[in-house]
Amino acid sequence: MSERKRYMEPKNQQTILIVEDEQTLANLSQTYLSAAGFRTIIASDGAQAIEMHTNQHPDLILLDIFLPKLDGRDVLKAIRKWSDTPVIIISAMNSEEDRVNGLDLGADDYITKPFSPREVVSRVKSVLRRFQTQQSSMKQDKLEFGPIIIYPKEHRVEKNGETVELTAKEFMLLLTLSTLPNETLSRETLLSRVWGFEYLGDSRTVDVHIGTLRKKIEDNPAEPRYIKTVWRIGYKFDSTGKEEEVNDPASGQ
Ligand code: CA
Repeated sequence: MSERKRYMEPKNQQTILIVEDEQTLANLSQTYLSAAGFRTIIASDGAQAIEMHTNQHPDLILLDIFLPKLDGRDVLKAIRKWSDTPVIIISAMNSEEDRVNGLDLGADDYITKPFSPREVVSRVKSVLRRFQTQQSSMKQDKLEFGPIIIYPKEHRVEKNGETVELTAKEFMLLLTLSTLPNETLSRETLLSRVWGFEYLGDSRTVDVHIGTLRKKIEDNPAEPRYIKTVWRIGYKFDSTGKEEEVNDPASGQ
């Protein structure tokens, strides 16, 4: 399908909330996102961002970190109290540590300044696609991964035809991971998605539940084929169920 045809037939328009105190940057993102078919709204400080999120229910938030009134971290924490709206953090900080911290707060992606507006558009599209994939997987009757079958609506899991008894949190953890197969999710993302914001900061909760989940799901919990550790970041669900090539340093317990 040509670029032009797609442009002329916009699907139900999605709204992007741009949170940015530098007017020129906000306008730049707005121009490119509008050209790509998105509806855009702009908040120029943290307090306004929270207000616009509450009132206008954007599909995604582009969130600058350094903001007047309330900084981007606090905005994200506040939003995560009641919502899983995808958030892309935009910040001038660019060290590896800051990148991880951004994702640790429960952001879905992270872009550093200076950025190319085209890159912003492509990241927005990819995060939205990922979010929609997950949302629609959660609505499916069943998700099959070899011997493991997950029934999202029934909150039930089978392995080799037998029901696996999971706690509610273990089930949500498995569902969250398996609806984004092969994508790494940070401990904090998992915490905010499965437990909610109040647990942020105690990411070992995730490790403990991953441990019990592996005992129930994996043939050999010490060498997991499905729920894999991604060193220093978090976990991913391997839809192929392949053996790990290198020894997983975190799976020993
Ligand atoms: Ca700023």
